[in-house]
Amino acid sequence: MSCHSIGMGLNEVVRMVITLYDKGDISMDTTKKLLATCSQAVYWCDGHEYEALDYIRRCRCGKCLRLIPKGERLYSLYDTYEMFHIFRDERLGSDGLCEECFDALIPKYCQDGETLQTVKDMIIKNYEDEPARYMSQGEPPKSNNGFEWARSVDWFD
Ligand SMILES: [Zn+2]
Repeated sequence: MSCHSIGMGLNEVVRMVITLYDKGDISMDTTKKLLATCSQAVYWCDGHEYEALDYIRRCRCGKCLRLIPKGERLYSLYDTYEMFHIFRDERLGSDGLCEECFDALIPKYCQDGETLQTVKDMIIKNYEDEPARYMSQGEPPKSNNGFEWARSVDWFD
């Protein structure tokens, strides 16, 4: 049976990492290293990377780290075929990519007749009944994977 607690705990860290990035306290490169560490740290238990990255993966690009406006496209690498290694090769912070970054990265990973357009068409077709799945929610979730956030560490502010 898989573990949900470790991803939720690390998602608390992800929320703080992004808060520090937005305040200008840490660089983009440091932010991505911390995010990637949080997503991989779930394997200290049988956890899930998507739960550790829940705070950012449906609203922020994993490459440029921009907050993507609601309704703009935000493709998940998990929806691409055999492209899990892009996450590591491109040193991304999360699996969600804005359209601009997706367009810039995907062509060099296409194989066997795939093109950027066929990959996009496949993702859009997969979610034709639920197009919100490849669109940004525009803001971070108000909960931690559906649960109330733990007490914040606001005494550092
Ligand atoms: Zn981007």
